[in-house]
Amino acid sequence: MEEVGTGLLDRLDAMQRVAASAPGGPLLIVAGPGTGKTRTLTHRIAYLCAELGVFPERCLAITFTRRAAEEMRTRLAALMGDVADDITVGTFHAVGLTILRENAKAAGLGADWRIADDAERAAAREQAGADDLAYAKILRQQDLVDLDDLIALPVALLRDEPDLAERYRKRWQWIFVDEYQDVDEVQYELLRLLSPADGNLCAIGDPDQAIYSFRGADVRYFLRFSADFTDARLVRLTRNYRSSAPILAAAVQAIAPSTLVRGRRLDPARLDPESPLVGRYFAASVADEADFVVRTVDELVGGLSHGSLDSGRVDSRAVAPGTLSFSDIAVLYRTDAQSGPIVEALSRAGVPVQKRSHNRLRTRAGVQEIARELRHASGLGGGLPARVKLAAQVLAQRYAAPTLDGDQMAPEDVWAAADLLMPLARRTGDDVSHFLQEIATGAEVDALDPRAEAVHLLTLHAAKGLEFPVVFLVGCEADLLPLRWPGATPGDDEVAEERRLFFVGLTRAQDRLYVTHAARRFRHGSEREHTPTPFLDAIDGGLFDRLGDTTPARPRERQLRLL
Ligand code: ATP
Ligand code: MG
Repeated sequence: MEEVGTGLLDRLDAMQRVAASAPGGPLLIVAGPGTGKTRTLTHRIAYLCAELGVFPERCLAITFTRRAAEEMRTRLAALMGDVADDITVGTFHAVGLTILRENAKAAGLGADWRIADDAERAAAREQAGADDLAYAKILRQQDLVDLDDLIALPVALLRDEPDLAERYRKRWQWIFVDEYQDVDEVQYELLRLLSPADGNLCAIGDPDQAIYSFRGADVRYFLRFSADFTDARLVRLTRNYRSSAPILAAAVQAIAPSTLVRGRRLDPARLDPESPLVGRYFAASVADEADFVVRTVDELVGGLSHGSLDSGRVDSRAVAPGTLSFSDIAVLYRTDAQSGPIVEALSRAGVPVQKRSHNRLRTRAGVQEIARELRHASGLGGGLPARVKLAAQVLAQRYAAPTLDGDQMAPEDVWAAADLLMPLARRTGDDVSHFLQEIATGAEVDALDPRAEAVHLLTLHAAKGLEFPVVFLVGCEADLLPLRWPGATPGDDEVAEERRLFFVGLTRAQDRLYVTHAARRFRHGSEREHTPTPFLDAIDGGLFDRLGDTTPARPRERQLRLL
């Protein structure tokens, strides 16, 4: 036992160790991107179980996306082995769903309650007009709940039934919340009900990465943690292990004008003097921007179609040519509409891409269709694992395939996707309807398979918490970041949130970061001139390697002096 514990903490730095081994009671870990918050959280759970005799089944770890939950489960399993299975790991929605399932009747739901699909919700909305109460009533009459209800109903239930709340507090005596800066009011209420003010609540986050206020998240819950929970312990982590020094310097400068963290510090742990600068590409058009992405992917991965590996243009030691694969690369954008030209250009060049198309799973017809196939597949196998595997395979093949519409998946891809679905399937056993419910509650990034050999395409929001050796942040333009709708000017708070979003994007990169902007772009029905986002102005010009810049050449500092 002791060996396990010691080994565990060995993999943390001094401050991370303080956080991971802190005794029970409220604990707030506040730290910037890449400082090991998620790593510290998983190690803390493993440490508490291995060293302090905490039972895994008394632990509840909450994340914001299912992808993050799967990631955490994988990391916990790697640290702890099979006992990790006894830890409840899930999104707020999944936790709410668990409570509702266990108390459907008490929550006023009928025997056949389920989650409404998009069409059902739209119909209820239309019928109810703008009346929220009428909308809820219409759903309830059909024994339907929507995603908000998954948290709101348990909150109401636990508030009304203190005994029940107490039972859950006994069951989950240790609660861990990653990305705490993005909790909204109802999620916060749920946490308050699940954790006493002096409870073992460990919240982790970064106020400068709060990007969900448009959905009701409120960073103030983070900032007042110490007031809400008794004698809260505060640990700060300041060493960034993720990004090369130039990338980190650019990100820190970018967030500076609106940081929410007093005395913010973020020191690079990586000091390789050969790290490339941040590539800044001045695209003439959207097509040119997409072309740049393709060309650069080609250079980095090497010899896509014409053996450019020999061109000698890739020079970083951190990402030497040939060592990079497609899945090391992510293209991030502000709006989903921007992905079209990029996907097209990459696909034309033969680069596999993975991008979640979530709507197919969100219609009732779609889910029913899966259910039929799933039941059929379940009937074919022998033991449970085989059945579940088959079911997962069918599901993956039909619905989670991260390929372009209409594309056929290779057989290997089917199995890769099946692998992705396996943990889900295992968790829900052979209960098909529950499995489907979990799928229906999936968040945007869920179907991304970190192991699939394909370039990741995702929105900035979906990229939260993730990291990639190479990141392209495309569309860094004044109209897109901050996002501007015709006839509307974003207010100060919105601009600040967009800047945080920009910060989140920059800090996803480990070794290479490219920011691009197009001089012309088709938006809202017409093609117009676009200027680079003013967010770029906060970054020292010396941190950029200007690419494709047609303005008159001027001397520039190519070698960065950070050290
Ligand atoms: P974000 O705010 O983006 O979610 P984070 O603070 O959760 O970031 P992690 O994802 O936990 O950061 O860690 C970032 C990277 O740094 C990971 O690759 C992680 O393995 C690595 N890392 C963290 N701590 C250490 C450490 N002590 N030694 C070596 N690598 C570390
Ligand atoms: Mg994290």
